[in-house]
Amino acid sequence: MPAGGSGVRPRVIVIGAGFGGLAAAIRLQAAGAQVILIEARSQPGGRAYQLKAEGFTFDMGPSLLTAPWLLQDLWQAAGRHLDEDVTLVPLRPFYRIGFADGNHFDYWGDPAADEAEIARFDARDVAGYRAFLAATERIYQRAFAELAGEPFLRLSDFLRVAPELVRLGAHRSVYRFVSRYFRHPQLRMVFSFHPLFIGGNPFRASAIYSIVPYLERLGGVHFIPGGMYALVEAMTRLFTALGGELRCGQPVERILVRSGQVWGVLLADGALLQAEAVVANSDVATTYLRLLPAEVRPRGLVRRLERAHYSMSCFLLYLGLKRQYPQLRHHSIFMPHDYRGLIRQLFDGQGLPADLALYLHTPTRTDATLAPPGGESLYVLAPVPHLGHGVDWQRETLPFRERILRYLEEQAGLHGLRASIVYEQRFTPLDFADELRSHLGAAFSLEPTLFQSAYFRPHNRAAQVGGLYFVGAGTHPGAGIPGVLLSAAITARLVREDLACRA
Ligand SMILES: Cc1cc2nc3c(=O)[nH]c(=O)nc-3n(C[C@H](O)[C@H](O)[C@H](O)COP(=O)(O)OP(=O)(O)OC[C@H]3O[C@@H](n4cnc5c(N)ncnc54)[C@H](O)[C@@H]3O)c2cc1C
Repeated sequence: MPAGGSGVRPRVIVIGAGFGGLAAAIRLQAAGAQVILIEARSQPGGRAYQLKAEGFTFDMGPSLLTAPWLLQDLWQAAGRHLDEDVTLVPLRPFYRIGFADGNHFDYWGDPAADEAEIARFDARDVAGYRAFLAATERIYQRAFAELAGEPFLRLSDFLRVAPELVRLGAHRSVYRFVSRYFRHPQLRMVFSFHPLFIGGNPFRASAIYSIVPYLERLGGVHFIPGGMYALVEAMTRLFTALGGELRCGQPVERILVRSGQVWGVLLADGALLQAEAVVANSDVATTYLRLLPAEVRPRGLVRRLERAHYSMSCFLLYLGLKRQYPQLRHHSIFMPHDYRGLIRQLFDGQGLPADLALYLHTPTRTDATLAPPGGESLYVLAPVPHLGHGVDWQRETLPFRERILRYLEEQAGLHGLRASIVYEQRFTPLDFADELRSHLGAAFSLEPTLFQSAYFRPHNRAAQVGGLYFVGAGTHPGAGIPGVLLSAAITARLVREDLACRA
């Protein structure tokens, strides 16, 4: 990025040090900008925060690392190699999926093992699996490898590729798409639940999102010794080693705009910081609805954001246990009795669903240092409706916790779980709203539907406010670590191009 006329490096402020903010900050700093990364909380990481207490270490959010080439690409942009700074440990199996009838499916990501596992359910579905992988590889090549890295700033960009997306099946839901290839109802769940990983409803997310099993198989599912937070630390070191400045514990209160052009930010302590560009990694809806001055908020977009569909939220328990449960895999998923019913209630119902789906992260299966000897660091995630669905979490937190623990003891085989808890912490939709400033406490920002994706998602560059950009889950291409790393590459490119034009 050429320096301005004065020879001074252009100053860029990044609001928020989630994976998207960190990655954008690294790319821009490496490209020659002077970047200040401002984080409201006391540590970087955003949803990938770390909790350490009484000898237990927990990653509080993301735990599955896929598409490692996106990290390699980021490190390369900073002039280093990923493996100099981060160790990736491939997991086998990727995860275990348990069903209400006691049966389970291990996903290994290797053809022979997966086909043997599928044949245990329905031998006829092995051929369907091969066809499914071939179809999702085609979608991956076009929609992920080629298009997810494009900014989709104009409707014409979308219309140009729309016929091809329809040919690939994008107009179908993931569940409908998967059901063409699998007969067995439990295999339909196994290969369709992945949109939930990024806040999507398998019954209405576009089939574009059915590529996750292919993506996992292509690049593996990885763990980082020390936990996902080791990646946050490595990115923070990379950024500061390049000369970037990270300030934590400093919420941005306002984005400052003059004559339609961003000129800086106002911090909660009253300090003003000037910049030529501001990249918001803060929640997209909150940024448009609260951080931008009322007079420059784009009315149409604000109306759309107020009416948009947001992803579900999550209820999380972080449990330090004095014993271990060897039957758990590193990643274990427990499917509900009524898959369709639970998902309908999560996205479209009122109150808490009657059924439960759970994801358990047991990193001590791979890294014993994360708990005291003989203990277990266990995180339990239940997807729950966001705050717009009428759940009173002040009242529901303890009863819901009880429901989860009872389920784990009585139906998931974790006998004696309650008696073995020596440390506990919770994170509820209220914390997503208060701690992470997430609109409606949504865990993954806007729900990924076809008409809230690509051109229809808030753009990486604000159309009506010069010098304002977005990175992270709420902008294109969407949530999940691969999505936000891609958004960082897109946004950094737009900032670089625009600043180069103004130099
Ligand atoms: C429980 C959970 C589990 C997940 N598991 C996985 C997984 O296994 N694999 C995967 O790939 N993805 C997973 N995801 C999704 C993934 O974690 C997220 O999509 C991704 O981390 C979001 O990154 P982001 O860059 O959008 O920023 P966020 O992580 O949302 O960070 C935004 C940052 O901005 C800061 N901020 C907000 N407002 C302000 C302000 N006004 N001033 C200063 N700072 C501000 C916040 O404090 C925060 O640090 C999971 C998500 C959740 C919630």
